[in-house]
Amino acid sequence: MKLAIDLHSHSGYAGGVGQIELADVSKTMNLKGIQVFGTGDCLLPARSNELKNILTETAEGLFSLPNDENKFLLQTEVILSTKLNGYKNKTVAHHVILFPDFSSIEKMQKLMQKWKMKNTIGRPFIVSNSQKELQDQLFEIAEIDKNIEIFPAHVVTPEGIFGSKNNLSEIKEFYGDFLPNIRVIETGLSADPKMLEKIPEFQNLTMISNSDCHSAALNRIGREFTIIDVEDVSYQNIIHALRNNKIDFTAEFNPQEGRFFHTGHRADRVGHEEAIIFINDIPSDLKCPICKKKMNLGVNERCKQLSDEKIVPLQRNFKHLIPLIEVVAAGLNIKNPNSKTVLAAFDKIMQNFQSEISLWQDENLEKKLSLVAKDDVIKKIISVQKDEFSFDPAGFDGNYGVLKF
Ligand SMILES: [Zn+2]
Ligand SMILES: [Zn+2]
Repeated sequence: MKLAIDLHSHSGYAGGVGQIELADVSKTMNLKGIQVFGTGDCLLPARSNELKNILTETAEGLFSLPNDENKFLLQTEVILSTKLNGYKNKTVAHHVILFPDFSSIEKMQKLMQKWKMKNTIGRPFIVSNSQKELQDQLFEIAEIDKNIEIFPAHVVTPEGIFGSKNNLSEIKEFYGDFLPNIRVIETGLSADPKMLEKIPEFQNLTMISNSDCHSAALNRIGREFTIIDVEDVSYQNIIHALRNNKIDFTAEFNPQEGRFFHTGHRADRVGHEEAIIFINDIPSDLKCPICKKKMNLGVNERCKQLSDEKIVPLQRNFKHLIPLIEVVAAGLNIKNPNSKTVLAAFDKIMQNFQSEISLWQDENLEKKLSLVAKDDVIKKIISVQKDEFSFDPAGFDGNYGVLKF
């Protein structure tokens, strides 16, 4: 069977976002068609206690609210930080950890006490002073339970394992002997499988997409997601699918939308009267020809730098999508996708579809929309379904790409 999963999120404990009720998350999961959702922040004692109190195990290793079909999977993000030989700065890389039960979370909380790591924020730091120490920590976590899964998050963002800040040439430098235990990577909002498929160390790994959201809103949950093939709904089956690349499909942001897709400088920088974007022929010293300051290497270029053109990549089935609520807002020419008018138009459309995911897969989409949406909204939804949209200019130097249908 096909299972739609979104396994990286953050809770109200992440700070600055206020409380996020799982009941609201579950409502949005129904509309989006996400069946299994990562809880976020499950290592923080206040959060793990809360989850233990409100959730019950309804399938092996998966948890639900009372009288609710939707499943939650125990998940956290952590920041691994270490000192690698030959690098001046610390290497910092965000990772997601999935847990099969509350007892393995308790064991990990004890490990953090033993390591004297603070566990007071939703996304804790795990710090080490050498590659060897990091590797030992990772093995200790993995030994808690053979079904714990650790994978690098948003791999080519500045906070990702292969980000331009870390500037690693191989992920082996970071993981050492733990490398064979890395079987999954999260492409993140800034990259899609196409951009990563020729990176030698990624070519045999499973690529998944998650929302990494901090909100229960319709344009956040499932803004990226993964559909996997499983025999039955259970934690162990999900892990088996992830470890064996049983990926049916991933929904991706168009990476051009990302704020660091190209290398360049914005027009509002000191010394600039206009922006400069490099699509090719990036200066090798990354010095901006206008203001002479150093530019950050764009994600697109970073991926090319890491890729080996000789690699024949695995086939990966993915599609660029925009959250439906945002497409409806664009069709109505309304800026705020969570405004009442947009929500009302969205609700009207959704009466005809089981979920947003099934809407995107519907072969008679145009016909079904004709009775429930305005022409401009229909046109834009169909353009997204056909992947007929782009971002021009694409994102650079902190500016988002500008959407063009
Ligand atoms: Zn992160
Ligand atoms: Zn400049």
